[in-house]
Amino acid sequence: MIPGLKAISLLELKALEVPRCWSVEGHLDEIPSLTPLRGKISAEHQGNILEVKGKIQTIVTHCCDRCLGEFNQRLSLNTEEQIWLGIGDPTPGKPNNSNQPDDIDALMVCLDPLGSFDPERWIFEQLSLRMPLVKDCGDDCPGPPQPSKKGPGAQHQQPPDIDPRWAALRKLISP
Ligand SMILES: [Zn+2]
Repeated sequence: MIPGLKAISLLELKALEVPRCWSVEGHLDEIPSLTPLRGKISAEHQGNILEVKGKIQTIVTHCCDRCLGEFNQRLSLNTEEQIWLGIGDPTPGKPNNSNQPDDIDALMVCLDPLGSFDPERWIFEQLSLRMPLVKDCGDDCPGPPQPSKKGPGAQHQQPPDIDPRWAALRKLISP
């Protein structure tokens, strides 16, 4: 929960006639981070679209998929998104479509014009999109933990129980 980031009704945003700005400093429950999220976000009602801009950064701790070690990664976003205000897909031919942008396909997200905009939710979604699918601690990753590191023969351990049908192939790769 980031202090001060409460959802605002779109009608209220419309009445403002200027962008609503929030400064961001705090942690999200859903994305535990080492440092607080810091930055700013703004939302401007432009008739049938809502333009949201955000610039946020934080550092999150991941668990490496390979070595299971923890590592930190800087996560930042500096983006703007146009959210369609309407029910369903934008349809041409509406009376008030004169100021619609040409690239209507770019409007991926839509909100009920009588609903509200939740800046914290928006930040969560944007940061989630930037989370790495594969968590890799980097070039120095020691790789998967070895079952037994002790003993002089550990480096030359035979892989256990290879299917005998692969034996011929195995000779090819390790003559
Ligand atoms: Zn690793």
